[in-house]
Amino acid sequence: MGVWQKEIITGLLLFVAVAIAGGMTGLFMPLALALTLGILMRQLFQINRFEKWIRTGGGAKYPKTSGIWEEIYYHVYRIKKTEKKRKKKLGKMVDQFRQSTEALPDAAIVLGPNDEIEWANKAAREVFGLQQSDKGQRIPNLIRFPEFIRYLKSGNYSEPVILPSPINHRITLAVRIITYGAGLRLLLAQDVTQLKKMERMRKDFVANVSHELRTPLTVLKGYLETLQDMDDGESPLLTTSFQQMHGQTERMQHLVDDLLLLTRLETQQKKTECVNVPALLSQICKEAQTLHDGIPARIELSLETDVHITGEEQELRSAFTNLLGNALKYSPDDSLVKVRWHRTDESIVLDVEDQGEGIAAADIPRVTERFYRSEVKRIKKVGGTGLGLAIVKHVLMRHDAKLNIASELGKGSQFSCYFPVKRVCN
Ligand code: ADP
Repeated sequence: MGVWQKEIITGLLLFVAVAIAGGMTGLFMPLALALTLGILMRQLFQINRFEKWIRTGGGAKYPKTSGIWEEIYYHVYRIKKTEKKRKKKLGKMVDQFRQSTEALPDAAIVLGPNDEIEWANKAAREVFGLQQSDKGQRIPNLIRFPEFIRYLKSGNYSEPVILPSPINHRITLAVRIITYGAGLRLLLAQDVTQLKKMERMRKDFVANVSHELRTPLTVLKGYLETLQDMDDGESPLLTTSFQQMHGQTERMQHLVDDLLLLTRLETQQKKTECVNVPALLSQICKEAQTLHDGIPARIELSLETDVHITGEEQELRSAFTNLLGNALKYSPDDSLVKVRWHRTDESIVLDVEDQGEGIAAADIPRVTERFYRSEVKRIKKVGGTGLGLAIVKHVLMRHDAKLNIASELGKGSQFSCYFPVKRVCN
């Protein structure tokens, strides 16, 4: 039998007893009133005890009682017990999480909505020289590098910002902000000193080797040209050998030039001027056409806007020449190459479109890597260094522009360069 049924039956039995006693004594009303009052008093007493128990924390020792009240005590006590267990588990998890983030080799700082420090791990305190008392301080007051403050304010955290450590300038940090929750941000800083050092060594090595190769190459080329001039054509083997040697020295010269250009793009300060792109494109197209003299006109240039952009003319010339050169190189001699300079709402665009062999979808993301040449090209031995598109990518990066490649095997390719409107200068 359930507790509720027991309660009702007890109530009914008491009422029957009062009715019998009332019938026998003729005092039904006073007895019924006394019974009701008794029941009410009991409930008030129980409520009072319950409130006292819950007020004092609702511990395991709840008052001895019976019936429905015992049930209530039991259920409330059980709910409280599971809640306590959950809290303990959660606390343990938070502790473990704190311990692991404390032990992280990378610096981590939780920032509040007003750039104030809410929490920082051990690595962050070490690398930024933070004290426990800095909690609540605004981070721009502690890390004062202008590039960091600009990054923090920009709200665009897709790329990390590279900074020296404020307490040790020999340590280079890659600082990145990750947004989460309601207005909270996590600042992560990774020590990239070693990585930057290696990168610098690689750049220096490539620059030095390319530079050192220039002189011997010029000497070789000079002698080779003299020998070719002296060649009377008596020995076909000698003639083809000279031709091949000449072809290979030319190729090496291109490689060295491209490597030096890439090094310059990586290391040199940007110079800016207002570049007349339509004039530059006309000139490049004309030069390319003359280079392919004898072949009927293949380049269709449409200048749909007269926009000039801020940039470095020589760099843009290299990039555009590479794109046009590729379009001509990787498409049949009788096919059309379209060059289009136009404007959209958000960008100024240069499209170079060919009807050539196209690029396999799997190759598209890789063609801008240094020395990447698709296998087909290697087999066919089409001349090239594999550095052209790497140069294009670098030049565009230096001009805040993006490269988009749309291509289909057997149908052709379209290389589009998107320059931001803020670069328009005329
Ligand atoms: P290179 O042309 O000297 O090999 P690039 O860096 O200019 O080097 O190009 C890398 C590779 O991308 C090329 O080897 C070729 O496979 C592919 N590629 C570039 N442009 C085109 C194009 N217009 N059509 C088809 N493939 C292309």
